[in-house]
Order: sequence, then C-alpha cells, then structure tokens
Amino acid sequence: MAKKLPKDTKATPEIGELAMIEGILEGSPDAVGVAVIRLDCGCRKMAAVDQAGDPASKIIMYRDHAESICDQCKADNGDFFRIIKQFISWNTPEPDAYTKAMIIKKVLGQDE
Ligand SMILES: [Zn+2]
Repeated sequence: MAKKLPKDTKATPEIGELAMIEGILEGSPDAVGVAVIRLDCGCRKMAAVDQAGDPASKIIMYRDHAESICDQCKADNGDFFRIIKQFISWNTPEPDAYTKAMIIKKVLGQDE
C-alpha cells in the first residue's frame, strides 16, 4: 500500500531545528521561510524558500547530536517515501496567507 503524505503542515520546530533554521535564514537573504522535512530515521532535510516558492539555499541534511547523517540517508539521500513530517518555518514578518498557501503547495506539494 502506498504511504500517504503527511497532511499536517503546521508544526513547531524543535530546539535543534530552530538553530539550523536561524543559520539557514541568516545565509539566505531572500528567504521567507525554511522547509523542514523530518525523515523516519531521525535525520532532517532543510532548505530556504523565497517569495516565489523557489529554493533560496542549498538543501541541507543533518542529524541532531551526530556528526553526519545516517547510513540510510547517505544511500538514498533522504528518500521521499521516508518523510514523516514536513512543514515550513516562516521568517518574520510572515508572508500573507495566500502566498503561504502557494509556497506550501509548490514546495511541499500539498494543500494546507
Ligand atoms: Zn537518516
């Protein structure tokens, strides 16, 4: 059976994620937010997105309390099918609701 995409796009970043998000935003002046993708192995994938929903940074993969991502992620680069949660952490001031919905759909491929 095909695994369904997680529907919930509203989540609060964890402490470790927040530090990464801040770092990404600092290095990405055009970013309106950071897409956070949690994988079933515990690793994270993140990338800044701009006003048009386009990537505003490189995709960053990391694992909390570890020097590198896990072996599975090294092998499959954080496969789509292993996503357990994905959401966008918005920069302040947040874009308007219409823009946010457009970006979520474009970046995460799902309706809010
Ligand atoms: Zn991993």
